[in-house]
Amino acid sequence: MTNKETFKALVVDKGEDGQLLATVKQLRITDLPPEDVLIQVDYSTLNYKEGLGFANRNKIFRIFPIVPGVDLAGTVLESKSPKFKPGDQVILNGWSVGERYWGGYAQLARIKADFLIPLPKGMDTRKAMAIGTAGYTAMLMILALEEAGVKPDSGPVIVTGAAGGVGSNAVAILAKLGYEVTALIKTGQEFRHNFLRQLGAKEIISGKEWSEIPAPLESQKWAGAVDTVGSLVLARVLSEMKYGGCAAACGLAGGFDLPVTVMPFILRGVSLKGVDSVWCPTPKRIAAWKRLATDIPDAALDNINKIIKLDEVPRYAKKILESGITGHIVVDVNA
Ligand code: NDP
Repeated sequence: MTNKETFKALVVDKGEDGQLLATVKQLRITDLPPEDVLIQVDYSTLNYKEGLGFANRNKIFRIFPIVPGVDLAGTVLESKSPKFKPGDQVILNGWSVGERYWGGYAQLARIKADFLIPLPKGMDTRKAMAIGTAGYTAMLMILALEEAGVKPDSGPVIVTGAAGGVGSNAVAILAKLGYEVTALIKTGQEFRHNFLRQLGAKEIISGKEWSEIPAPLESQKWAGAVDTVGSLVLARVLSEMKYGGCAAACGLAGGFDLPVTVMPFILRGVSLKGVDSVWCPTPKRIAAWKRLATDIPDAALDNINKIIKLDEVPRYAKKILESGITGHIVVDVNA
């Protein structure tokens, strides 16, 4: 807990040699940026994006020193905005927080009121961060499929990068909604079968064809797709979509290129929907979080999540890039 004077935060700074230095420090409230809502943080999360940030890749951290953490959930202590009052429980995801603004890896945070949404009914702060940006992005992808008319009886839905944070949440939500879910994992990850079956995957697939360029049109398999991998994986998914199917894409865990032809689009009416969680407008965020309060099973969250402390974040950030993580990581900033 904080003692009024100081609080704990994980601070990342750049050394003279350009290397990043991550240290858990005691900061003063006056060290926080002058934003309008002061929050007592309960939990944050660790995602692939922070993995890239701590590895000093893709210019994720834009200011130094920075307190990273793209998500947080906690309770409002002070507010200069009429939108929130002390005691309100709030969630933050994205908006470039943890990249251009100080984020969730601290016991206290000051955040712009426009970036916050109320914690939905039926959810506590721990559940919110067990869901995190990963679960919220998964829900945005599923909303995209629903908007495209993909229903549980339309046919199988493939989830790629299924053992990861976004993918595992997508598997759990789709299964709860009654979709027939096929989970794609990398070859050699058979140890992940039990995990994915418990989340509700009906079939778990992998194979060397997923790292090869597909034919422009392969045989039709998927009514819908939730893709977190990009590159050759998304290219094959698109070439295997059923007539009129929709693939939602949010990620680049396998690469940011897309070696695809126009054939699935012009001959099968397939659609590709890009999903962004960072700048997603507030009404859609609120809609996604409302659905998450009911559509993600608690048991699945227990399976998906691992809880770590602030000082463990840099080690796990490294692991997330080295393929060492199954599921999603919650950061308990008060542990
Ligand atoms: P994780 O690292 O938790 O999951 C990625 C998963 O993809 C891992 O299971 C990984 O396996 C798997 N994977 C990587 N390459 C391949 C491949 N070639 N074939 C099959 N599986 C593969 O990341 P997140 O779930 O947090 O994020 C997933 C992606 O989504 C990232 O690119 C992230 O940047 C993006 N994202 C985008 C958002 C947006 O708003 N657009 C929001 C959130 C995430 P392994 O661990 O073995 O490498």
